[in-house]
Amino acid sequence: MAAEGKLAVVPDQAPPMLKAPVEPAALEHLRLLQGPFWQRMPAYAAVSEAEFLDHRWQAKHSITKIPKLLEALRGLVSDDFIKDAEAGFARAPMSVRVSPYLLSLIDWSRPYEDPLRLQFIPLASRLLPDHPNLDLDSLHEREDMPVPGLTHRYFDRALFLPLDTCPVYCRFCTRSYAVGIDTEEVSKFQLKVNADRWQKTFDYIRSRPELEDIVISGGDSFQLRPEQITQIGETLLSIDHVRRMRYATKGPAVMPQKILTDDAWTDALTRVVEEGRRRHKEVVLHTHFNHPREITTITKAAMDKLCERGITVRNQSVLQRQVNDSVDTMTLLIRRLGYVNVHPYYIYMHDLVKGVEDLRTTLATGLAIEKGIRGATAGFNTPTVVVDAPGGGGKRDAHSYEHYDRTTGVSAFTAPAVHPGEMYFYFDPIDLLPPAGQARWADPAEHPRMVEEARAAALAGRRGERE
Ligand code: SF4
Repeated sequence: MAAEGKLAVVPDQAPPMLKAPVEPAALEHLRLLQGPFWQRMPAYAAVSEAEFLDHRWQAKHSITKIPKLLEALRGLVSDDFIKDAEAGFARAPMSVRVSPYLLSLIDWSRPYEDPLRLQFIPLASRLLPDHPNLDLDSLHEREDMPVPGLTHRYFDRALFLPLDTCPVYCRFCTRSYAVGIDTEEVSKFQLKVNADRWQKTFDYIRSRPELEDIVISGGDSFQLRPEQITQIGETLLSIDHVRRMRYATKGPAVMPQKILTDDAWTDALTRVVEEGRRRHKEVVLHTHFNHPREITTITKAAMDKLCERGITVRNQSVLQRQVNDSVDTMTLLIRRLGYVNVHPYYIYMHDLVKGVEDLRTTLATGLAIEKGIRGATAGFNTPTVVVDAPGGGGKRDAHSYEHYDRTTGVSAFTAPAVHPGEMYFYFDPIDLLPPAGQARWADPAEHPRMVEEARAAALAGRRGERE
């Protein structure tokens, strides 16, 4: 008998198995790509590990010219694919930039289906007509800019775009109106590094005591020089009312080597984070992984380094058709992000962006994914699915629609804390609608009617979905 106050221990008795042992497939998130995987590509067959891990080598060999990209792919893909990509780029709103790391993660034996290729290399044969209600700056960021490159839309936070370049150019970019160089399709709104513009930005932030939270994006913070990371960080930290800062970068997903080997950049970021901590202010990194295959052992080493330095990393994904639009893929992504200490924060419904209708999917898909992934891991590691309301309503929980008509694909949102009394509409891609919805969009006279129907239903409080 156990002594009073102590539990009895029964030797040699296994604890009851309340949960069945997991299948190996359930631990797929632990299996990260490792070894010299880049050597599978003829262009990088002779590249050593030391070279491949060097951020300078990655930057120097990043491809920024379409003929160079197509040349690197010759022999890996068919001539038809090359012609298709050439024609795709000619119609794209984004310029090209891909790192050798990113190119070597693509499965070139299945280039048409590969979820990484889909995000960066357009194919003319897969493009769909833009939605009629789409425009280039769908979030209307420029309408809320008191200074060029500073969007002040929400009460307590602002978005600072200090420059307009990125380590990669993504087809789905919301800021295709500004990011990258001009393309055949689009002349860009210029947001180059400019001391005067930056000073005006800092002055504006200083003059607005309600601004507590500043996102530094771009472009991309990876492209800021270490002294620019420091200048922005120290200036903003010195403003009493600024309490939180987020450096936003796609870098960890496309060139994690920089965190590992660009000591000056990583040290500059670390010093800002530490200075923030000393001043009781939060400085974090926001990044952008969309598919589980974007996370490798190199990513893990980079995220481990940031973890050792006490730097919090959060992720924002964009929901894209054939890339990550299934519960299985998203579950694997969020578990893998958790494993490498990146917090999944948001999944964005794809903005209404020019030239990428083939990547967009329906609000219904976003709702189904949210339902499917919730519970797969801890709540703080489960992203919220949001719609960035076209026209400037800001981010809305996808479930908070006032009305959603699955036939016309029109959903209506309000944003009481941002623009009270306004209504915002999101539009599913037409090719995924049932035939009755597609028929209505085929008639331009029906377009305003469908929007007005959604508005009337929302105002009448008919939140329920119409099938
Ligand atoms: S990295 Fe971000 S800002 Fe740059 S092209 Fe991609 S989505 Fe746009």
